[in-house]
Formats: sequence, C-alpha cells, structure tokens
Amino acid sequence: MLNDSSNAPAGAQATASHWTGTHLCPCGTGKAYAECCGPHHAGQAAGHPEALMRARYSAYVRKLSDYLLATWHPSTRPPSLDLADRPGLRTHWLGLQVISQRTIDTQRAEVAFIARVRVGGGPAQRLAERSRFLKEDGCWYYVDGEIGPK
Ligand SMILES: [Zn+2]
Repeated sequence: MLNDSSNAPAGAQATASHWTGTHLCPCGTGKAYAECCGPHHAGQAAGHPEALMRARYSAYVRKLSDYLLATWHPSTRPPSLDLADRPGLRTHWLGLQVISQRTIDTQRAEVAFIARVRVGGGPAQRLAERSRFLKEDGCWYYVDGEIGPK
C-alpha cells in the first residue's frame, strides 16, 4: 500500500478530498500519511517536537490552517493564517529535511530543518529554519523560528 502510485508528487495536487491514508506522507518519512502526520491532523497530540514539526510541514502542504494555529503557542500565534494561493502563484512544497533536533530541557526543544518550496513558475527556494518548541500541559507547541542555517 506504500506503493500507491499517486500521480500527485508529495501532495502537490492534493486537496482534502483526494487524500487517503495510503498516500505517502508529504513530510518525507516514507510512511503512509495515515501512519505519520495524519493522526496528528486528526487530533492526536504529537509526542515529540520532531513529530510536531513534520505534522506542521504536512499541514502547510495540505493547507490545514486550523491545525497550524492550534499547534502554535498562544504567545506567538498569529490571529489568522491565510494559506490560499494567489492567482498564478501556486505554492508547491517540494520536500522537507530535518537536519537536527536538540532537547534543551523537558519542556523546550529546537528542530532545525530545510524545506524546499516553489511558488508559481519561480525557481525552487530553500527555507532553512531552526524552530523552537515548548511543551505545555503535555502538548508541544511551535513558538517561533530563526531563519537560516547555523
Ligand atoms: Zn508525516
């Protein structure tokens, strides 16, 4: 079932109605969506920061702004998130690479990653970020990120 020959590369063409659990997860683990980020998008808390980071990337791919807002720490959460593509400027998420993660203490961690994205007909861009995560009441939240590799 992992060999489901989807014609949508990494979810680029997918909309909610096209998604089934057998799609490869857009976050690049090689697992089926239903065994990777899918359960988190359905409400299961991510058990560790890297899982949350991956689920948030997949949520950007799937334009799940509610999930992104729900996992954003209230201190830094934007009031709303508009992930709609501008006319002619469709966002194609091309892949995610988790570079490293660092546990600071039981409630704080950082995950460094590189995401590649292409907007409209433009060149692929590389977005490098070191994200900070905070655990509160047993749940991990994204706090903020530092752009660029270190
Ligand atoms: Zn995933």
